[in-house]
Amino acid sequence: MKGGKPSKRPFSATDKPEPKPVDEVEVPIEDEERFMAMALDEARIAGGEEEVPVGAVLTMNGEVLARAHNRTRALVDPTAHAEILVLREGARLRGNFRLADATLYSTIEPCPMCAGAIVQARIRRLVYGARDEKGGAVRSLYRLLDDPRLNHRVEIVEGLFQEECSRVMKDFFAERRNSGLQ
Ligand code: ZN
Repeated sequence: MKGGKPSKRPFSATDKPEPKPVDEVEVPIEDEERFMAMALDEARIAGGEEEVPVGAVLTMNGEVLARAHNRTRALVDPTAHAEILVLREGARLRGNFRLADATLYSTIEPCPMCAGAIVQARIRRLVYGARDEKGGAVRSLYRLLDDPRLNHRVEIVEGLFQEECSRVMKDFFAERRNSGLQ
């Protein structure tokens, strides 16, 4: 054996290995738009309920399995994000906590908690509208869904109805600022 150094060093957080490509699933654009429009409707419902306006839809084989919006205030539950709620409902309906063939549509880039749950559920595809530069864990702050150190990778599609998805958020926070709420 030459030298005392191991040939491989452990990964550190600053390493940026190339993510492995995932096989892409073909989904008709009309379906993509229909599901994201549904997620947007959910986001708007959330806003009307004074919840941060994020909506999510979970589909499998072109059918809607679950739809939800943020309900952290209503349920007094910090984990009640839209994505978590559709994963819970989807798993309940399927009788399986693995949702390997499912696609999750979310209006906003998922946070670390939701991205973690997407990995746990082995979700196949994630489609989201707008990035969350301050909290997103798919592209913005972290890249949890295609990190080669994790043994599950998710096909990621971003930017569908980006304008609308981010507009719903901006309007919500602008309105709250204007009325002195936070
Ligand atoms: Zn979340």
